Amino acid sequence: MSREGNVTPCCLLPDVKMGNLLNEDLKDIWQNDKFNLFRNNYRDTCGSCDLWVIDQVDSDQVIDKNINSRVSA
Ligand code: SF4
Repeated sequence: MSREGNVTPCCLLPDVKMGNLLNEDLKDIWQNDKFNLFRNNYRDTCGSCDLWVIDQVDSDQVIDKNINSRVSA
């Protein structure tokens, strides 16, 4: 959420406004058509953000990678 009350999917997408808390309830914003459309097509908006690929990786691999990087540091 921005200081102006705009709700966005994340801090990397400040121009993707789903609603404004000055005018709407958070629950209504969370469930509105715009947010649902984003959830169903987020890869179109998120572009090359590295974070969306995490759901394509086995979570055990992510944990192993993090543990191994800490052990070798
Ligand atoms: S995938 Fe990246 S750009 Fe998209 S919502 Fe998540 S953090 Fe933001």
